[in-house]
Amino acid sequence: MTTEGSEGVGVAEPARVAIVGAGMAGASAARRLAQAGYDITLFDKGRQVGGRMANRHDRETDLTFDHGAQVMRAHGSAFRTQLEAWLAAGIVAPWDEPGSFAAVPDMTAPVRDLLAGLEVHVGRTVTGFAREATRWRLALAEAEEPRLFDALVLTPPAPQSRRLLDAAGLDLPGLERVTYAPCWSLMLACGQDLLFAGDVLRPGAGPVAAIFREGAKPGRAGASACLTVHATPDWSRTHLEAPREAVQAAMVDALGDLFGVAITPEHARVHRWRYALVESTCGAPCLYDPGMRLGFCGDGCLGPRIEAAYDSGSALAESLVADLG
Ligand SMILES: Cc1cc2nc3c(=O)[nH]c(=O)nc-3n(C[C@H](O)[C@H](O)[C@H](O)COP(=O)(O)OP(=O)(O)OC[C@H]3O[C@@H](n4cnc5c(N)ncnc54)[C@H](O)[C@@H]3O)c2cc1C
Repeated sequence: MTTEGSEGVGVAEPARVAIVGAGMAGASAARRLAQAGYDITLFDKGRQVGGRMANRHDRETDLTFDHGAQVMRAHGSAFRTQLEAWLAAGIVAPWDEPGSFAAVPDMTAPVRDLLAGLEVHVGRTVTGFAREATRWRLALAEAEEPRLFDALVLTPPAPQSRRLLDAAGLDLPGLERVTYAPCWSLMLACGQDLLFAGDVLRPGAGPVAAIFREGAKPGRAGASACLTVHATPDWSRTHLEAPREAVQAAMVDALGDLFGVAITPEHARVHRWRYALVESTCGAPCLYDPGMRLGFCGDGCLGPRIEAAYDSGSALAESLVADLG
């Protein structure tokens, strides 16, 4: 991009890229694009970055839970190299099974690391976008965005990205193939010690998919009484639209049945992940339309894993770099 400088000489300006979503895919794309010299701005509707790598702190009780993703694993060399760097920096530590890592002090830490020094706006919901000549104008629910962007990257789960595209009269073919299983997540603290060997129990059948001891994760001082419980995809789907009080009571009861005790929660909250784990992907590392300079990346491209989101973000960044120069 070239503009007139103060002495009338052409001054190269870096291309400006807007990224919707500051989860792992958005952060991975942002870091790579920033390294390549582009001007990156991220917008996320959440109160903090991380997306489904989420952490909830309850102010009243001072309890914290990672109520989304629990562990990271590397299958490929790029994410393995990244995990090794985070391990050396104390941002992840081994947890659960061999080869699995939890983030320290909570699951948002790796995304925060990738985004360090970049322009990130949280609490900003992108409600639409439109082309103005060769650039993108974004509409936000909370504030006006005066800048125009040379390229636009979408990372919300595919159905949410598609709604935005539909509203703009646009399409990224392949996105319609992506589907997700939901997950109800229970954040529970109770005085009773629910006895099970190890830090994680995976009943896998019935309502309860897995139980995670928050206090057993690396670097979680004071979280000893906290459990995060994930419901199975089938149970979550059946109860997707149920009131949260009913879901909470049913999950606490299911836990009681599992351990043969009546559980009296000291703290209980549920969170519904409507789009939790990818069931079918779009079949490509990322989706990119060079004519529009519009792309999608995320776990929806490569599978239900943090690593997939990381790799997909890198793939989209590479496509953009190849296109923008
Ligand atoms: C309960 C649960 C357990 C999981 N367990 C694991 C696990 O143990 N290991 C593992 O590898 N993976 C796990 N996963 C999957 C993993 O979390 C995801 O694959 C990965 O985090 C997806 O990253 P992403 O960047 O593609 O999407 P997201 O993390 O969903 O990021 C998308 C971002 O877009 C934002 N957004 C959406 N719409 C808008 C809008 N209109 N405007 C602005 N921002 C918007 C969202 O707020 C979000 O931050 C789990 C997921 C869940 C839900």
